[in-house]
Formats: sequence, structure tokens, C-alpha cells
Amino acid sequence: MCCESKRRFLLLYATQKGQAKAIAEEIWQQAGAHGLEADMHCISEMDKYNLETEKDPVVIVISTTGTGDPPDTARKFVKKIQDKTLPPDHFAHLQYGLLGLGDSEYMFFCNGGRTVDRRLQELGAQHFYDTGLADDCVGLELVVDPWIDGLWLALKEALQLQKEKEGMNSAVDAVSSSISTAPHAVHELKLSSEVQNLKLEDEGAKASDILSQKLDDINLVAAARDTEPSLVHSVPPVSQSALNIPALPPEYIEVEFQDTQGENPHLSSLISEGTTFEVPVTKAVQLTREDAIKTALLLELDIADTAFQYQPGDAFCVICPNHVSEVEELLHILGLSEKGDDFVCVKVKQGTKKKGASRPQHVPERSTLRFILTWCLEIRAIPKKAFLRALVECTSDVGEKRRLQELCSRQGASDYTCFIRDSNVCLLDLLHAFPSCKPSLSLLIEHLPKLQARSYSVSSSNLYQPGRLRFVFNVVEIPAGPSRPVSRRGVCTGWLAELVAPLLHPSKNSLHTKRESSSTEKISIFPRPNNAFHLPADPSVPFIMVGPGTGISPFIGFLQHRQKLREQHTHWEFGETWLFFGCRHRDRDYLFKQLQCFLENGTLTHLKVCFSRDSSTAEVAPPKYVQDVLRLCAKEVARVLLKERGYFYVCGDKKHMADDVSDAIVDILSMEMEADKLEAMKILAMLREAKRYLQDVWS
Ligand code: FAD
Repeated sequence: MCCESKRRFLLLYATQKGQAKAIAEEIWQQAGAHGLEADMHCISEMDKYNLETEKDPVVIVISTTGTGDPPDTARKFVKKIQDKTLPPDHFAHLQYGLLGLGDSEYMFFCNGGRTVDRRLQELGAQHFYDTGLADDCVGLELVVDPWIDGLWLALKEALQLQKEKEGMNSAVDAVSSSISTAPHAVHELKLSSEVQNLKLEDEGAKASDILSQKLDDINLVAAARDTEPSLVHSVPPVSQSALNIPALPPEYIEVEFQDTQGENPHLSSLISEGTTFEVPVTKAVQLTREDAIKTALLLELDIADTAFQYQPGDAFCVICPNHVSEVEELLHILGLSEKGDDFVCVKVKQGTKKKGASRPQHVPERSTLRFILTWCLEIRAIPKKAFLRALVECTSDVGEKRRLQELCSRQGASDYTCFIRDSNVCLLDLLHAFPSCKPSLSLLIEHLPKLQARSYSVSSSNLYQPGRLRFVFNVVEIPAGPSRPVSRRGVCTGWLAELVAPLLHPSKNSLHTKRESSSTEKISIFPRPNNAFHLPADPSVPFIMVGPGTGISPFIGFLQHRQKLREQHTHWEFGETWLFFGCRHRDRDYLFKQLQCFLENGTLTHLKVCFSRDSSTAEVAPPKYVQDVLRLCAKEVARVLLKERGYFYVCGDKKHMADDVSDAIVDILSMEMEADKLEAMKILAMLREAKRYLQDVWS
């Protein structure tokens, strides 16, 4: 509803997985309390706004996807503003504030936001507020919350400026007064309440709720007695604080149970990224010994009868379900165990206050309850604060309620980071820890994100093994901990390991726990082409591959491909190839001993392997990690990269390895070129830009 005294600003969001949209909705909701009205649109809805003529301030919330790309919804917009023919004053009339979302564990942090920001500046647009770059790696809220707090004053000033320009100073008073009184209004919301009156009011216009409770008044379920905070217990100052908790997100989904007739949608209907293929698993091999720290499996898929195509270096996605036992447990907690196979109709709640509410695309309009919990919702997702806020309303125990309020409050921000985010807590962990919390199915549909298909790098060559696709993965083991009563396996890797277990362990009494065999199990996959991580187009160009652990996977595909090309084109010139591989123990997890064959038949020119956990009796300790071996080969590495204009590929763990390797390369370049570190970093940046230093890294 638009009140006359409210001043408008344009609010655009560009979202990939819903985070930017949720933050924009938060801004939209808070705007009313500040005497403002946000005219909110997805950035792709270009018929609903026009930046060319926009006079009001513009707020943009934009996330980053892939390797530093703006979200798909912003592609058209970015293409439009990147038009080289636009004059430098094209957006000179525009005042804007931009909030970028990203994850610093990935290269090109917040690049989606940075790209748009840079281009708007080039086209003459002015910042009315400093750009915020929020990092999902440490918690978006660390930047998002203060950025939104500061936005209102900045908007007020921007609107004032605009009014002054228009010579209509009087009209701005309404806004000034509403904004300058807003903080007082918030303070007036402070309630000193008894526990029985502990009730939160979330009228749409309120920015946040503040509860002030005297410690004497409340029973904090032993929290005050405990000296150490935990997921369920708080200690002072959090336990004694007045809390700023987020506004209750409006409900917007309703579900209706129907009879048991009908069929569930096909899995392909859940995927918007392209065609899916249901393919048989033809082989499963355990690459690691039983006593290895991690279990690595190789699976082979039969794609012969499909149109699925790939090149070595490509990745593809596996559609995976949630674990049966977790789905059953959720059904039990929801009190819907008997209704798992009933069909559910999912609709937008009539009269919802949520702007632009629509049914989440990843939940079918009609399917069984079990289908939704198994294939559609990421039930392992770390609950966001808005979800915790909504769960407060479904919790009957007063102490539990207060702790959930703390965890989603400003005052409890570090508890949230420690006991929820860093502890990888999921909905089931919460429901165990807070047994009086009984959420509804519609709430889960509103707050749980899409169950994402998992990506894997192809570890084979279509030339070497036509009609086959192989991939390698570590089975993710998540141990039990203070916030997690049970250990778990990764959703996809745990499922795949269970699926192929009969192939790996045909009989419990078998002496051979490691063997190859075939099955009729099928999995659904779809392509995720990688534009850059491919063999050099010119085979005479030398290249270096660095892939410790399962990071070696795509390089097996590279080498198989190269071997076939060498056999088929004996007159071609082939450049030298280097592989740096590392694992923990020579006997337990040396994933591909057949690398030696590539060396013997000349496909691989140099193979450098290191073992990080094997003890050595050598006088000089052997190098432990791939970056150490790279340093030992500094001269050769520099020659390949600089003199021979070769390619450098890195694949594997994004957390440490990729950075350690690029640090080693900077050192090598600076040493071999006798240049300072900054100069070496610039050269590395140039190599990246020229797509001669390529990374395929994951966590
Ligand atoms: P999930 O259920 O998604 O769980 C993983 C999450 O569990 C982690 O992110 C972490 O938050 C949490 N976790 C893990 N360990 C712990 C712990 N000890 N304590 C607490 N929490 C923990 N993986 C491969 O193995 N091989 C590949 O070839 C490969 N290629 C990839 C290519 C691309 C382009 C991308 C993006 C990823 C690739 N991955 C690869 C990673 C893969 O997609 C999955 O992320 C991985 O297999 C885990 O999936 P999962 O569903 O089993 O685990």
C-alpha cells in the first residue's frame, strides 16, 4: 500500500539461489517503517522499470554465481549496460547503492556486483551510499545487517538532494521526520515483559522487534547456570540482553492434502538447467584402501544410448535424493508419518503479505509428501536466521523459544555463527535440540532451499572410452559433534556409496572388498559444460597439471584423450606434459597407479608424486605437498609458462590447495624472472586473463 507521505525508491534484485531476493524483501519490508516505499523488481523484469529515465534513488542487491558471473537473471541487464556505444554520461542522472553477495572461498569474490557497480560508474551513475560486499563464507549478515541499517539515512539524504534539485524542498520534510524518528520508534518498541507475555509483534511495517527481559523473569533452561554457551544454552551477555530479532517473514505457502491417486513428476521437471539423462552405473571401483582416511570411489556410467556429450575437463551434475532415514524422521516430527504417500497440492496462501509471492519452482504443484522431502528440499541446509525466526512461532517451550530468538538476533550473531553456521547444523539437528519446535510442512517449503544437484568433473575421455563417462569422488563423512547427535555422510556421495555398495562388497564374507563389477542401478545426470577447463586447442603447446587427491580426476580424462590423439595422429607434434599429484599414503590412497602407464607410453612426459603422511628415513625430507614439488621444479615450470607459452591447470580442494599453488607460482615467477612479488602477481593475473592458468576447484 502506498501512503502519500512515503517516498519511493527503486529496489532491484538479481538472485541465483534466492539470497539476494530474500535480502531485497527484507529491505522492502523495513522501508515502510522509515517512511519510504520500495518499488521492488527482479532485475530481469526490464519492462517494469527504466533506469534511463529513473529519477529516484536505486538500490541494487546482486549475487554472484559460477566463476564470478552475475546471476542468470541479470544477464540481459548486464549485456544491456555493457553496450560499448553508450556514452559516459548515460546514467549521469542516476543515484544508486549496491549490495553485492559472494563467497570469498571462490575466485572473483562478489564479481557479479563488482561488474555492475564498475559499469554503472563508467556510465556516470553516482553512489549515494557505499557499496557493500557480503561474504557467505563468514556470514552474509556481517555486512548485510549494518549495510541495511545505514541505508535509510543515506536514502534520506539522496532523496533530499533530489528534491533540492527539483526545487521542492518542502516535500522532503515528511521523509526527514519519519526517518529521524524511526530509531526512537524502534526504542519505544522495547518491551519489559514477563515470560508469559513473551509475544512478538510483527506487523509488516516494523523493522525489528526488541524484547527486553529481566533475567529474574525468565527461566532460561539452565543457560544461566552453564558457563559455556552451546546450541541450546546461552550465557551472559546474550542470555541477559534485550534482543533485536528480525521481523517475522510473512507466511505465503499453503498445502492441501489429497488422495493417494496419481504419479509423481519426473525428476527432469525439477531441473531448469537443461536435459537430464537417466543412465546405468556400469562399474564401481573403490580406489582407496580400507584404512585410508577418506574413501574415494570411481563410478562409470553408460551414456552410449543417450545424446549426452562431453569433453575432458567438463563437469556434469548428479540429481540426488535426501537420505530415506532423514526423510522418515522428518515425517515423524511433522506428525505426518502416515501421509508420506499422500499427494500434496502446494499453493500460494490467499491474502499473503509477501510481495510477489509465488510457489518455489523446485516444489511441484502436486506430488507426494515423500517426493517433496526426498527430491525437492535441501533438508541439510544450514537454517537461515529468517527460518529460525519463523521456527520461534512453532516452539512451545519458553526456554527453547528464547534460545531460538537469541540465535536469530543481532546480539546472538556470534552464537549463530559458532553453533549453527560453523557447526553445519541442519533442520533435523535443530528439531532434536529444540524438541518442542513443531514446524508445519508449509513452513519447510517456504524456508528450505532447493536440493541442488551435485557437480562432478569427468574423469574419462570420449575418444578413449566411447559411450562411457567416469567420475571420481570422496565419500564426505560428517562426524557427530556437540550440535549434531549423529554422524552423517554427504547427501550425494553418501547416497552414491550406498547405491553401489553391492558392487563393491558382493558378499560380506568375500576376501576381496575391492573389485569391479556391473549393475542395473541408474542415476539421473545433466551436463554442466566448462567453457575454459579444456586441453589446449593446439596439441603442440606444453601444459602442466596439478591435481592432488581427487583433483587428479579431470587429468585422467586429459591423459586418456591425449593418448588416443597420439595414437590416431602420429604425424602431429605434441607438447610436453607435466602432472603433479599428491596423496597421503603411497599404499592407501594413491588413486591411479596406472599413471605409470601414461609415463611409459609417452603420453605423460613428467610425473611428480608426493605423499604428505608417509614417514621418510631420507636425510633430506621429501616434499610433502604439490606446491613443494612445484617449487623444486621452478625452472621448468617457469620455462613452460613463460618461454613456451604453456598452460597450467589446477584441480581439487579450493580451501587451501588452490591458494598454496598460486602462491608457489608467484614465488617461482618472481624468482625466475628476478622480479618483485607484485610484478609476479601481475603476470599470474595476465595468465589467468589469457586463460592459460585455469582452475577447477571445489570444497
Ligand atoms: P553435502 O551433503 O553437500 O555435504 C558437503 C558439506 O558438508 C560441506 O560443504 C560441508 O559444509 C559439510 N561438511 C563436510 N565435512 C564436514 C565435517 N567434517 N564437519 C562438518 N561439516 C562438514 N567432488 C568430488 O569428489 N569429485 C569431483 O570430481 C568434483 N567435481 C566438482 C566439480 C565442480 C564444478 C564442483 C562445483 C564441485 C565438484 N565436486 C567434486 C564437489 C561435489 O559437487 C560435492 O560438493 C561433493 O561431492 C559433496 O557432495 P555431498 O552431497 O556428498 O555432500
